Amino acid sequence: MRIEIATLFPDMCEAVLSESIIGRARKAGAIEVHCHNIRDYTLDKHRRVDDTPYGGGMGMVMQAEPIYRCWQAVCEQLGERPHTIYMSPQGRTLTQGRARDLSKMSSLFLLCGHYEGVDQRVLDKIVDEEISIGDYVLTGGELPALVLTDAVARMCSGVLPAAICFEDESHFSGLLEYPQYSRPEIWEGERVPEVLLSGHHLNISRWRQEQSLRVTEEKRPDLYQTYLEEHQ
Ligand code: SAM
Repeated sequence: MRIEIATLFPDMCEAVLSESIIGRARKAGAIEVHCHNIRDYTLDKHRRVDDTPYGGGMGMVMQAEPIYRCWQAVCEQLGERPHTIYMSPQGRTLTQGRARDLSKMSSLFLLCGHYEGVDQRVLDKIVDEEISIGDYVLTGGELPALVLTDAVARMCSGVLPAAICFEDESHFSGLLEYPQYSRPEIWEGERVPEVLLSGHHLNISRWRQEQSLRVTEEKRPDLYQTYLEEHQ
């Protein structure tokens, strides 16, 4: 899997993507993530990539040409047209299911907007889908692109030690995860649930399923209802 991030702030993305699990997975070659500075593709002698909006109004709009040239260069490097996503508060909200589907694609191109957004004409030309990370507006698409990269990358083979690491977690099956405990056995007078110390795998697995249902009903009744409807 290759993820190509087009941004005006590649250092901001690199700083996050060089750390922890994703950083190690990149070094090990389990995934490739490349950050492209859109400014490198402008033909303007002052390296400008934005201009005022036609029709008036506040702020600046990212111009079409540098983004298009960046996208074309990436297509050429890849030898294929990547699935192209514009990070946008107007897009469909990212879900675990969508992240899982995207993790099966060979290459993704994530476009990070800034300022007031991006000239619509280049969006119409290159974008396959718009994805939002929630119903609020951020200053740029970098944090959303990093969220999407993390959610997708951890489901690519070789990034986590085994698929069970993400299959067992909240949202994968439609439920939230059961409570987790670690040493010591008693902390501040509170004991770890007895069943988890029993070594009885079937009982532990039953307990975890019951707890998943309880936690989901309590914290996310909307998800719980959907789960019940789908498992009737
Ligand atoms: N004027 C745009 C609007 O009202 O729809 C918002 C532009 S926002 C200030 C600048 C950039 O941040 C966007 O182009 C987008 O790339 C990114 N962005 C902001 N909020 C986002 C969100 N919730 N999800 C994904 N991207 C977001």
